[in-house]
Amino acid sequence: MKNLFLSITFLASFGAVNAQNNTSYWQQHVDYSMNVDMNVENFQYTGDQELVYTNNSPDTLKRVFYHLFFNAFQPGSEMDVRSRTIADPDSRVGDRISNLSPEEQGYLRVNSLTQDGQPLTFEEVGTVLEVELAEPILPGEKATFAMQFKGQVPVQIRRSGRNSAEGVALSMTQWYPKLAEYDFEGWHADPYIGREWHGVWGDYDVKINIDKNYILGASGILQNANEIGYGYEDEGVKVKKTRGDKHNWHFIAEDVHDFSWAADPEYIHDKRTAADGTVLHFLYKNNPEIKENWENLQPKTEELLLYFNEHIGAYPWPQYSVIQGGDGGMEYAMLTLITGERSFPSLVGVTSHEMAHAWFQHLLATNESKHEWMDEGFTSYISARAMNKVMNEGKENPFSGSYRNYLWLANSGEEEPLTTHADRYTTNRNYGISAYSKGAVFLSQLGYIIGQENLAETLNRYYDEWKFKHPTPNDFIRVAEKVSGAELDWYLTDFARTTAVVDYAIESVQEDSGNTKVNLERIGEMPMPLDVTVTYNNGTQEVVYIPLQMMRMEKPAEDSNRIVKDDWAWARPTYTFTLDKPKSEIARIELDNSQLMADVDRANNLYVAEGTTQE
Ligand SMILES: [Zn+2]
Repeated sequence: MKNLFLSITFLASFGAVNAQNNTSYWQQHVDYSMNVDMNVENFQYTGDQELVYTNNSPDTLKRVFYHLFFNAFQPGSEMDVRSRTIADPDSRVGDRISNLSPEEQGYLRVNSLTQDGQPLTFEEVGTVLEVELAEPILPGEKATFAMQFKGQVPVQIRRSGRNSAEGVALSMTQWYPKLAEYDFEGWHADPYIGREWHGVWGDYDVKINIDKNYILGASGILQNANEIGYGYEDEGVKVKKTRGDKHNWHFIAEDVHDFSWAADPEYIHDKRTAADGTVLHFLYKNNPEIKENWENLQPKTEELLLYFNEHIGAYPWPQYSVIQGGDGGMEYAMLTLITGERSFPSLVGVTSHEMAHAWFQHLLATNESKHEWMDEGFTSYISARAMNKVMNEGKENPFSGSYRNYLWLANSGEEEPLTTHADRYTTNRNYGISAYSKGAVFLSQLGYIIGQENLAETLNRYYDEWKFKHPTPNDFIRVAEKVSGAELDWYLTDFARTTAVVDYAIESVQEDSGNTKVNLERIGEMPMPLDVTVTYNNGTQEVVYIPLQMMRMEKPAEDSNRIVKDDWAWARPTYTFTLDKPKSEIARIELDNSQLMADVDRANNLYVAEGTTQE
């Protein structure tokens, strides 16, 4: 903000926004119509955009903000500087932005902008356009913004760009002036530094005029498929040759918060209709080395879709596209861009992850900048389970890698809480482990706390209550509370908002005149209920369950031979329970043998009787 006076009045006008998220839910709405003309010789494009914006908030808006993401790909941008100053830069970025020539850089420039016909004053500030409104937008009112813009597609560096390493001509993501989201926490005009988005829900009508040799994949449904062809046409339709050098592709995407596309003159386009009716599109380079993998990917993609339908909720859009492009894997509305020159397991793995994001981001649209663990972590959790099934991996704990990463970070002393903004973790490594691994552990461990059936029901109900919205961490944990009957605010607070760790221990096991006393200790600050598995010399087992008092609920028994003991009140550092068998009959006692509780020191979780061979 350059103008101090303005920013103070701005803050004052929004001072009433309730940051506790305990007001009734509302969300803004956008209707975009865009006409874009792409020049594939110099990768410059021009566009006009009409945006009907509906202010569903209880607030009067005096300014709006647009993202101009492509401006990040210029020497000296925040993305460039951050990449050159962070301790562990992403190797795809490194210092590459600082070395881009003017012809290779990206930009997005707004040439004119009006509000209901009145010209507006605006200023480009890095990757954000700051706009003073001609008239305030009152609660419940609409405004129509009309804009002319011009862009240049940067050489592929990160996510978007031209001429990717695998030779894909155009990966067009974060490519248009995109209105920033305004929600119960106010504006989210985050600069584009490294990652993560938060978009406004709405409908997109997009026409892309491009060299007729190019084949496109996009977020929307192609409206003029029978004119364009390239495998989009209805069965049996003979596509007529058109005059001119260009095709005008017309897409409509409804109920999305983003619109992306990719284009290449050498794409192969395959279609497959899944059992639920969703049409799956595959667009990949005509490269004999990858062709077989991309064909074999198609039935696996259907299996993944059906898995997510069952374990989260029904995929709601008519199509989903898996497109070769970008520089790794990234999720967008109704599609993903992935690199395609991979081993088959890796190709299915990246598709599983990115497709799961169709739910955990494009349907359950958390603010990724603030709650990166809710999209990356939940996606990692469900896609690991899906891979285990679809690829017959046979893993007992498909999240063991996530636990290993998280436990390493927790024990490193460098962990930052999950409330850290996605761009502002000290290192890329801290971001990665926190968002992906600890986020996956958050869900997996919740299954340990409330039981697997309650977790499964929580995911389904979370989908039912929050699809096409912007859920927060509190919204998710409230669903888990309603499903399970447990009080879980302690779990969200301590695990997601602090770096407190779980560490419980078996302190000692004592003979007590024919009975056995087991003395436990809580070493970490994180509260947890405990499953204690006791194995006797004759091979029989029982599970001792110690409820956590502040949870006010006992997990449903998952083993038939479970004994429920008294609650453990968190503040007490020790707890003792009695087994009605002599110590001599006990072979082994283990805290959490499922290993789903993220205990940072498992060495003290085990008692093994002397003379018993350890497995
Ligand atoms: Zn992801």
